[in-house]
Amino acid sequence: MLPFVFAFHWSLSVLFQSLFQHRYAAHRMFTMGPRTERALHLSTALVQGSSYLDPRAYAILHREHHAYADTERDPHSPSQQKNPLRMMLHTARRYTGLLTGSSSSEPRFLGGYPEWPAVDRLFSRWPTRIAFGALYTLFYRRFATRRWHWALLPMHFVMGPVHGAIVNWCGHRYGYRNFASRDESRNTLPVDVLCMGELFQNNHHARPASPDFAARRFELDPTWQVMRLLARMRLIRLAPASKGEHAKHQPSPLRTNGGTLLAASPSL
Ligand SMILES: [Zn+2]
Ligand SMILES: [Zn+2]
Repeated sequence: MLPFVFAFHWSLSVLFQSLFQHRYAAHRMFTMGPRTERALHLSTALVQGSSYLDPRAYAILHREHHAYADTERDPHSPSQQKNPLRMMLHTARRYTGLLTGSSSSEPRFLGGYPEWPAVDRLFSRWPTRIAFGALYTLFYRRFATRRWHWALLPMHFVMGPVHGAIVNWCGHRYGYRNFASRDESRNTLPVDVLCMGELFQNNHHARPASPDFAARRFELDPTWQVMRLLARMRLIRLAPASKGEHAKHQPSPLRTNGGTLLAASPSL
């Protein structure tokens, strides 16, 4: 049973990161009412648990990534870092600086992200992270039936940063390109269930305002399918530019380096 629980936590955690921190907080690809926003915010915190990512720090960091992709000012780029671990540490330093306020950012990257200080502070504190880690460990103690099951446990503690590292390392290093963008972005998998569509980095960098990260017939973006479902249930409203199929089939004029980064943020 534990491998299924692991796969479930992995999928849900990366889905919420893709949906809430990336497509909503950083890009504003959809809107929703204040109560729905709070529900999604809290659900994200509970699902991500010990590796919850503050949406404000995430959004600023991610906007920097789009603006400076694969240059020395990119907070995470395999072209600038020797290995994934170094890249993760470099990103963690920048993220912590933004979280604690010890680092500042260009004003154009600020604003337009959800802020809920009580939740963001609580879930970013070490005692909370450790408490979630203890809960995962108790769960494993109760349900682990094979010795190798325990090898999965540490991954629950650091799932958020691991997802980020996979997307940012593989998505800018391995795979194919549909668009001749100025960065090194790649589409790593044609059907990206592993990271819920986030590995279509080349499509996303070429068309950062498109909420559907798939661009060709054989590509499938699971998070976009979830967004369509949520929109049909009237829980979210898609940004006007994203509704039609034209968003999928026409290359966007948007450019990543120094160009428009968001779907609907007034701040850029
Ligand atoms: Zn990227
Ligand atoms: Zn993005």
